[in-house]
Amino acid sequence: MRLRSRIALAVGRAGLYRATLAVTAARPRILMYHRFSQHPEHRRLHRSEFERQLDVLHRQFRVVSLGEYGGWLAEGRPVPPRVAIITVDDGYRDFYEVAYPLLRERGLPATLFVATDAVDHGAWLWPDRVEYVLDRTVSRHVVLEAQGYRMELPVGDAAAKQPAWAAFVAHALAVPNESRLEMLRQLEEAAGVAVPAEAAGGYRVCNWAELRELASHGIEIGGHTRSHPVVSRLDPGQLDDEIAGCRARLAEKLGVAPNTFCYPNGMPGDVNAEARLAVQRAGYVCAVVAHSRYSRSVDRFLLERIAAGPSERYFDEAVFGLDHARTWLGARATMVQEST
Ligand SMILES: [Zn+2]
Repeated sequence: MRLRSRIALAVGRAGLYRATLAVTAARPRILMYHRFSQHPEHRRLHRSEFERQLDVLHRQFRVVSLGEYGGWLAEGRPVPPRVAIITVDDGYRDFYEVAYPLLRERGLPATLFVATDAVDHGAWLWPDRVEYVLDRTVSRHVVLEAQGYRMELPVGDAAAKQPAWAAFVAHALAVPNESRLEMLRQLEEAAGVAVPAEAAGGYRVCNWAELRELASHGIEIGGHTRSHPVVSRLDPGQLDDEIAGCRARLAEKLGVAPNTFCYPNGMPGDVNAEARLAVQRAGYVCAVVAHSRYSRSVDRFLLERIAAGPSERYFDEAVFGLDHARTWLGARATMVQEST
């Protein structure tokens, strides 16, 4: 029997997870979720896998709200071992319908980040608008042309729509806010799809009454700007309006000012020093980005998160610390993982 098979048999995945959890216990796991579904659906986390993930967190971790964790950091208090934090971006109604009852059953806290324009006016979160248009167009190709760019999106069959969506969104994220809005207008025109003024069907977010109900049952509501722009591309006036304005609007509608903030999109190029300062200035206690796997707790205004998706194995390896342990245990851990 080869060495790596022997190690795998002796340790086993459960034992390996116990070991990696023990050595990484001091690092809080901040989980990032987006969408949920009752039935299997593309780009949504099915309720049965979310239940399984909650049970793992409930059994193995001390689940606290992001605000509580941010408070510890702000006060310089020690963070206990095995802390996990559940965060959900964008405030879609499927959180209220699918995820919230499961959290409530288990008495687990979570943080829901909302963009206030979407709640106030039923406004679309712009990547959804792109998906809506591409799903409904009867064109086989959509061509967009403006100063500085030309995009040709093949959208003739279902398989082409996801890459077309990704290509459009990647480009739209890289341009100033006004150019992105112009790209959206062009897309709708070129694709020949009229988008309703208010987000439709599965694109709806929670309304204020639902958010108030959530807030009174252990769900922390956090800020996610007013209109979900990429904040590193805003000028100073827009930055404060989006970040402090969102906090003021949440305070007005929910009766309490949020302590937590989430940068829209949240990848490294989407957040800069000015945005971080605007978050601090607005009075938030902490903020999260959308990348990396472990919060290193270095800067409470740039806390990193684990993207929790539909893959059981990916989730378990991330929360049990196998990914992290691999980097410093080196080749041996990789070898065990590969043979189990
Ligand atoms: Zn978002």
